[in-house]
Amino acid sequence: MTKNLSRIAKQKKIKYFLISFVDLFGVLRSKLVPAQSIKEMQKNGAGFAGFATWLDMTPADSDMFAIPDPDSLIQLPWKKEIGWLASDLWMNGKPVDASPRVMLKNQIKELAKNNLVLKSGVECEYFLINKDGNSIADANDIQSKPCYDQSALMRQYDLIKEICDSMISLGWNPYQNDHEDANGQFEMNWDYTDSLETADRHVFFKFMVKSIAEKHGIRATFMPKPFENLTGNGCHAHVSLWENDKNVFLDKGNKLGLAKKAYNFIGGIINSAEALTALFNPTINSYRRIDAPTTTSGATWSPSKISYSGNNRTHMIRVPEPGRFELRLMDGSVNPYLLQAGIIAAGKDGMERKSDPGEPLNINMYTESDNYPNLKKLPSDLETALKYLSENKVMNESFGPSNIKSYIKLRQKELKEFNSDNSFSKKNPITDWEKDNTLDC
Ligand SMILES: [Mg+2]
Repeated sequence: MTKNLSRIAKQKKIKYFLISFVDLFGVLRSKLVPAQSIKEMQKNGAGFAGFATWLDMTPADSDMFAIPDPDSLIQLPWKKEIGWLASDLWMNGKPVDASPRVMLKNQIKELAKNNLVLKSGVECEYFLINKDGNSIADANDIQSKPCYDQSALMRQYDLIKEICDSMISLGWNPYQNDHEDANGQFEMNWDYTDSLETADRHVFFKFMVKSIAEKHGIRATFMPKPFENLTGNGCHAHVSLWENDKNVFLDKGNKLGLAKKAYNFIGGIINSAEALTALFNPTINSYRRIDAPTTTSGATWSPSKISYSGNNRTHMIRVPEPGRFELRLMDGSVNPYLLQAGIIAAGKDGMERKSDPGEPLNINMYTESDNYPNLKKLPSDLETALKYLSENKVMNESFGPSNIKSYIKLRQKELKEFNSDNSFSKKNPITDWEKDNTLDC
């Protein structure tokens, strides 16, 4: 039975609901609705003008309605009187196919036809910075190899604890927090689960980290590369595929512990990797992280070429242990729903076509990849990635050509704006435009 939000509001003392959705650029948009009106909103949704967001609509289009998913309800741990809800967009009585949560749900339905469920966990790296965005928040965090630095981690204890306590109270089962490889950079890990729930949590996690950082007088950013000389913000995903209680990626007798289906799935991702970068590395700034010059810590930890390996972090895909793989392509600006949807679309195609990813490579990609000239390179800028996306049959067929076209059109518009005053070069400093438009991604 559908949960009755009006009744839940009374039980949990919720005074307001944030009826939220994420647009194509990953921007979280909401209406704040008093509990007394939630009954009507649960049925018919909250109205929005689509053109005012990053969706390919016109000012003349009729209202779209965000219909909240009651299963996604999260009481803000730092303000319990507010309940957050993820929503699906509807227009003229139909779901909006070009909205990210609907795109993901459609991919989940495709997998369900074969009784399969994608489970994943995401690793959202972020920086704690000063409010102006020009420097990291902790002036003492200056080690050249700052990864796992206990002192720098503990100087942020109050903030990290508040976020981790929040995840515990929400039942996400967080299990570790650390200082990452860049000065001022952190990562917090919680349990993996079904892809839709992980995507909703991913959206909420970013909102929560930013909100709690603000409460502590600083700022959090998931921008892919906020500082040229430091490691960027990745957003790796660990992926497995399930049929009921069985992980169909697992084959303990295999060298890497993966079943044939998993190799085919990886093959699908490798085949569509260039096109996926347009979704997984969606901002102009994203391409400072991919194939970046070496950072002060000694490694970028981001991929530059399309390859897979066993437990080796220099590759785009790593198999850390039997039964799952880690895709290391995505960065902090990725749209949480398109992350999961893109993985499913490419992987499903790989399984259908029985794609062979070839033998895993076990080399240091940062120093030895030049010896493998046949390896394909990842696109070096957004424009190139968009071109791959527009030509990619799998993405066009999975999401519908008009939806892919919409995404590309909006991104090209953004590129045009950027190019009117700037030109993108990894060798030049990060532009004000990138900071203004990506720090709050
Ligand atoms: Mg990490």
